[in-house]
Amino acid sequence: MGDPTGFLRIKRKQSGYRPVEERINDYSEVETKLSDGDRQAQASRCMDCGVPFCHWACPVANVMPEWQDRVYRGDWAGAWAILQDTNPFPEFTGRVCPALCEASCVLGANDEPVTIRQNELAVIEKAWQMGIVTPQPPRKRNGKKVAVVGAGPAGLSAAYFLNRAGFSVTVYEADRKLGGYLRYGIPDFKLDKSFIDRRVRLMEAEGVVFKTNHRIGSALFGFGTGGSGAEIVEAKDLETSFDLVLLTIGAREARDLKAPGRENAGIVQALDYLSLQNRAIAGERAGEKDESLEPITAFGKRVVVIGGGDTGSDCVGTANRQGAAKVTQIEVLPKPPEHRPDSAPWPLWPTVLKTSSSHLEGGERLWSVNTKSFKSGEGAKKGSVDAIQLCRVDWKMENGRWNMIEVPGSDFEIGADLVLLAMGFTHVVQQGLVADLNLETDERGNIRTKGSFHTSNAKVWAAGDSRNGASLVVRAIADGRAAAEAIIQTL
Ligand SMILES: Cc1cc2nc3c(=O)[nH]c(=O)nc-3n(C[C@H](O)[C@H](O)[C@H](O)COP(=O)(O)OP(=O)(O)OC[C@H]3O[C@@H](n4cnc5c(N)ncnc54)[C@H](O)[C@@H]3O)c2cc1C
Ligand code: SF4
Repeated sequence: MGDPTGFLRIKRKQSGYRPVEERINDYSEVETKLSDGDRQAQASRCMDCGVPFCHWACPVANVMPEWQDRVYRGDWAGAWAILQDTNPFPEFTGRVCPALCEASCVLGANDEPVTIRQNELAVIEKAWQMGIVTPQPPRKRNGKKVAVVGAGPAGLSAAYFLNRAGFSVTVYEADRKLGGYLRYGIPDFKLDKSFIDRRVRLMEAEGVVFKTNHRIGSALFGFGTGGSGAEIVEAKDLETSFDLVLLTIGAREARDLKAPGRENAGIVQALDYLSLQNRAIAGERAGEKDESLEPITAFGKRVVVIGGGDTGSDCVGTANRQGAAKVTQIEVLPKPPEHRPDSAPWPLWPTVLKTSSSHLEGGERLWSVNTKSFKSGEGAKKGSVDAIQLCRVDWKMENGRWNMIEVPGSDFEIGADLVLLAMGFTHVVQQGLVADLNLETDERGNIRTKGSFHTSNAKVWAAGDSRNGASLVVRAIADGRAAAEAIIQTL
């Protein structure tokens, strides 16, 4: 521990965002950076508390006190060496992780926690800048071949560790580019896609083989995914050509809202909306006449986002950038408390009100509101959504369960030209690959894994959201790493 009194003298200072009036006109990352000196001061706030609960809370088990100390001393290479032992992709988590660690930081028990996520990002970006993140191919190959299906964070993480351990790894990805929801879900203003390309180039130099536009299995899969023009590879061909097949295909079955009027035009899944915008920024449509790549624009429209979570917030930020006339985000659950509730004492993760950079850019948020129906327009607008009919709800605890009760006489209407459904994901897409391989699914509809990562087919394993359900980038990375460790032990 470099500075035993840092936490007493120095206050938490966040990186901050670019001004709203500037960032709303582009899709570049909104978060700014602190100077090296400020960053080192922030790292000095780590108390080296003895029992670092941050380490316990972090799914990849980063050892924060050790690398905070190196940052404080200006030893960026030393900090990076420790960080990369546990986290293969700090440039992704440093940008988009909700920082589960910070909710458990011991300093956070009676002060503001250490800026762990932003310190993590500073370490990895400094390491790239210093040229010390270089390819580390294995010294020799072990003759074993593994196919990874799906190049989201779980698949990339598994491929990274398996390849470094000497396995020959081929990653099959149905979409045009690699990254899964890192690339086609999370907006560019949170994660610039060049950082995925930079990491992929490094993994290629280490020997990982990536095959994009290769869809495994018979059917199209999930919302927000491309791959309709991809080459189709039979799942059984992989089973015969590889020693093991690891599925990391995500949980891409989006929850729908079966309310009257749902068939009207202008009601779309958030993922279709967000991914088309990301594809447009990447220039994927340029030179092609593919209508399916035409972005859905919110320009001049009254936008209603249904779902108060992170995907909904990404829709708010995108709609504001596209020039929406008005943006309203609605959520059926009550407004969360602003501070940690007694039901989630430190060091547990608390559900508290989250105000993202997108919320600060404009729009209204409503809680405890349920959708009753969608109304079509008249005349030229017939068949297209024009309004959404809502009511207020109360939540009451009955027999140990929360029940939603409609508030009598509370019906109201909001005008809407574009409705974005951002209500989360139910499970892995079961048509196509999962059905082709006859894999068992669990009670939540995800791929059932037995013991560790084995599915009901001994040669096929699964990791990430496809077996755990929709979760977080850091959990997908952790699961990909754990699957790789289990494969190394088994093969
Ligand atoms: C809009 C949005 C915003 C999010 N924001 C955040 C955030 O800020 N922070 C955070 O921590 N998490 C966030 N998440 C969640 C996070 O992105 C996911 O939990 C994570 O990407 C899951 O990783 P995965 O590798 O398991 O699956 P995915 O990222 O879903 O990747 C699965 C990959 O498999 C491919 N695939 C599927 N089927 C096949 C097939 N048959 N053949 C070949 N390839 C196939 C898909 O094309 C895809 O590339 C967000 C999610 C969304 C949708
Ligand atoms: S990966 Fe997430 S939880 Fe882990 S140290 Fe980084 S910000 Fe914290």
